Order: sequence, then structure tokens, then C-alpha cells
Amino acid sequence: MILVLGGTGEARKLAEDLVEREVRVVSSLAGRVARPRLPVGEVRVGGFGGPEGLAAWLRENDVRAVVDATHPFAERIGTNAAKAAESAKVPLLRLARPGWQPAEGDVWHWADDLAEAARKLPDLGKRVFLTSGRQGLPAFAHLDDLWFLIRCVDPPAPPLPRHHELILARGPYEVAAERELLGRVDVLVTKDSGGTQTSAKLAAARELRKPVLLVRRPPRPATETAETVPEAVEWVLRR
Ligand code: NAP
Repeated sequence: MILVLGGTGEARKLAEDLVEREVRVVSSLAGRVARPRLPVGEVRVGGFGGPEGLAAWLRENDVRAVVDATHPFAERIGTNAAKAAESAKVPLLRLARPGWQPAEGDVWHWADDLAEAARKLPDLGKRVFLTSGRQGLPAFAHLDDLWFLIRCVDPPAPPLPRHHELILARGPYEVAAERELLGRVDVLVTKDSGGTQTSAKLAAARELRKPVLLVRRPPRPATETAETVPEAVEWVLRR
């Protein structure tokens, strides 16, 4: 059996492609999103209980290989997977889409993490389109002088910035609709998630010449990595 650590579009596509090739796949979701898009094939939901719990799960379920296809900003699960795979002696592949690359006309600023983004933000504008995810909102909650258009998938828990409007939505998004939202703000804040599901906001910001503040990806353990689903399928089939 192959374990796919999921929660991304790539993880769903990988499960689909492997099931099509009659590989037994279990996709694992953290359970953060109330109504997640489910991959085809078997699915399990919830944490494993740290690297030890994951290692035990790998042994108990006779897992042949693990693909860590979690989101680039899921900070802990990558390290857990590396430790667990090593201790259970199971091969591990990281499937990670590349980060976004600037194009002609982009006005991009970078922050190393959400805290740095919050520090830099007041110099970039007063009205902010904040798309850094529900779990990242507390980092901006103290910015009382700014107004935020916040977009996330599920309703966020406090603390939230004092002045804000909330949009609950899930990608993929269209450039035209993103242009309308960006027309209401001075600056866009996003994590460097990469991929096409949520990149329309970057195209819209480019067209409108609005600055974008991007949060750099957190470091991940050095593991064999594939950038695309077909590469990951190949890797699995070789096992
Ligand atoms: P995280 O900080 O790396 O993980 C926190 C804990 O959640 C882990 O220690 C693990 O619990 C559990 N976990 C995470 N991913 C899991 C998975 N695929 N299957 C089972 N357990 C998992 O992760 P996060 O940032 O909270 O993200 C959670 C999930 O949402 C990930 O699967 C990720 O792909 C998806 N996601 C995250 C973002 C983001 O920006 N962070 C965006 C889109 C999607 P145990 O230690 O108990 O095993």
C-alpha cells in the first residue's frame, strides 16, 4: 500500500492516477477543513500522533512507500514524515509544486514569515487583501490602522484584525473576479503556495500594478523530491 499525505490538489491527482493504475492508495488528511474535497480511493482523516505514531502506522499497515504531497506551508508534517519514514525504513518522496516566479510588471515584496509580513505591511498600503489562510490571521490581528479583506475556506477563529470584511471561498479563482477584489485594496498578501489553483490573484495584481507581499516557504527536510504528479507516479511505480 502507498500512503499519500494529502490536503492539496496534487495529492488528489496523484491518488486518482495511482488508483487508475490499480495501485492501492490510502490518502491521509489532517482534518482541518470542515468539508474537504476528497480524493478517490481510501481516505483516512486526522493526525497520527507525531513521528512515532506515523512510523507505527507505516509498520502496522505494511506501507511500501510514502508520498508527502502536503501543502508547502504545512510545517510540521514534513519533518514528521521524514523521521517516520527513516525509522520504519519506508521510502519517502516529497511531491511539491515549485514556488511562483515573478513576471514582467509584478511589484513583489518578500517576507520570511507571517510576522515579518505583518511588520512590512503598513508601509505598503492601508487596505489589504489577506489570503494567507485561516491559521495565519492572528499574525495580523494587532494591525488596528489597516483594513483587511480576508479570504479563507472555513470561518476563522479570533483573534482577527479589528477592521475587516470576510469572504469564505475556495479556489480555483478567475482573474476577472480577482481583479474586482483587488480593485478594493492597496496590497495583496499571500503565501508562496505556487500552482495554478490560486494564482489568478497574482495576474490580477500585475494588471492593476498593485504590490504583492509574498511569504517565503518554510524550510523542509532534504528528501527526494518530485515537482509534478507524473514524476511522482513514476517514482511509485518503480517501487
Ligand atoms: P502541519 O502544521 O504540518 O501539521 C500539524 C499536524 O497535523 C501534524 O503534526 C499532523 O498531526 C497533522 N497533519 C498534517 N497534515 C496531515 C495529513 N496530511 N494527514 C494526517 N495528519 C496530518 O500542517 P497544517 O499547516 O496544519 O496543514 C494541515 C493540512 O492542510 C495538511 O495536510 C496540508 O496539506 C493542508 N493544507 C495546508 C495549508 C497551509 O497553508 N498550511 C494550505 C492548504 C492545505 P500528527 O503529528 O498528530 O500526525
